[in-house]
Amino acid sequence: MNFEKTIEFAQKLDEKDTLKHFRDKFYIPMVNEKESIYFTGNSLGLQPKSTQDYVLNELEDWANYGVEGHFHARNPWVSYHELFPEFLAAIVGALPEEIVVMNQLTVNLHLLMISFYRPTKQRYKIICEAKAFPSDQYAFQSQAILHGLNPKDVIIEVHPKEGSSYIDTADILEAINTHGNETALVIFGGVNYYSGQVFEMQTICKAAHEAGAICGFDLAHAAGNIALELHDWNVDFACWCSYKYLNSGPGGVSGAFIHQRYISDSSIPRLSGWWGHDKDSRFKMGNTFQPIPTAEGWQLSNAPVLSMSAHLASLEIFAEAGFHHLVNKGKQLSAYLIFIINEINHSLNNKVIEIITPSNENERGCQVSLLMLKDGKKIFDELIKAGVIADWREPNVIRVAPVPLYNRFEEIYTFGEIIQNTLQNIQ
Ligand SMILES: *Cc1c(COP(=O)(O)O)cnc(C)c1O
Repeated sequence: MNFEKTIEFAQKLDEKDTLKHFRDKFYIPMVNEKESIYFTGNSLGLQPKSTQDYVLNELEDWANYGVEGHFHARNPWVSYHELFPEFLAAIVGALPEEIVVMNQLTVNLHLLMISFYRPTKQRYKIICEAKAFPSDQYAFQSQAILHGLNPKDVIIEVHPKEGSSYIDTADILEAINTHGNETALVIFGGVNYYSGQVFEMQTICKAAHEAGAICGFDLAHAAGNIALELHDWNVDFACWCSYKYLNSGPGGVSGAFIHQRYISDSSIPRLSGWWGHDKDSRFKMGNTFQPIPTAEGWQLSNAPVLSMSAHLASLEIFAEAGFHHLVNKGKQLSAYLIFIINEINHSLNNKVIEIITPSNENERGCQVSLLMLKDGKKIFDELIKAGVIADWREPNVIRVAPVPLYNRFEEIYTFGEIIQNTLQNIQ
């Protein structure tokens, strides 16, 4: 599409947007008594207006039934987690039995690594992206230590080429090739939290398997953002959080994916708990663990229903919108943002902002990361004053994520105007 940098054009895109009414389903934070321009849905998604009712329902059922709520609540708590796989199957591209909602993200990453990072004398290395999200780096290091290994010998980071801000798939494949015989696990983010780069998951997974390694993904910035086909790509395991693009509230429950080929294999080592045990005999309180033959077999504890109810409220909105429609609008929003930033550079006859997110549509989702080459902090302060909520990362990157459920094209236009005016006033 040929974009234009005018408010009329941006408003026209909003008028034509078939998802535009979904914005009314969310609370938009106010700044200076005006709706903010909220571009941090990649960090904490906004609250659906329906969430309060979902949480209140569970509080009411708890008040009315006490312990009987496990079986008599409107959505009985004993099986509450079973409400999620159908919704998430469409979002992550998996079979329902491959999905379980439980715990938090870093916890799930550890649980899955316990099962799927099984180093031997010959194969012990972990190949991952350089500058992975810190929690993931700590998880990889501590898993190595748990196995009595030195993280320095274990972790192989793939870096961007000199001068580039994102990683070439060819370099990932080369690392897998080089370390293939010694690699136990290849694990990447689906989308890098800093650059916004979408990794070529299918290609990476195939190469990992050809090298004889297991392949997993941390989808914190991918779930609810980009199209995924975890089952068909043959991914071994994955996990994600629900509070970023999935709008399910701070510290919300996490999701985990375990490929069909493993779910009924009770010989896979795991940290086990009673909620992963066979449902029919769970309350017989026996002492022999017999895992449920689905991803549920990795559960430890009974479900945190209050935070799960917020997740349910949000997933119903995703289902109503249709995930592929959201993905398409997300791509259009980020394409318009990239266009606006390029126009600013152009009109100032000077590159003042470098886009460090890949421009190729298949290598990015909603997030665009801007390296501010000039007056970054001043521009960011002006954005804050004008009611824009974005994310500043030292030394000088602004991460911006317009999301399809509640952001508008006009907000992107306004964002560009604030930046351009600030730069012109400085000059
Ligand atoms: C947001 C994020 C986390 C956060 O982990 P929690 O356990 O949810 O606190 C971890 N990893 C990645 C890649 C993230 O983007």
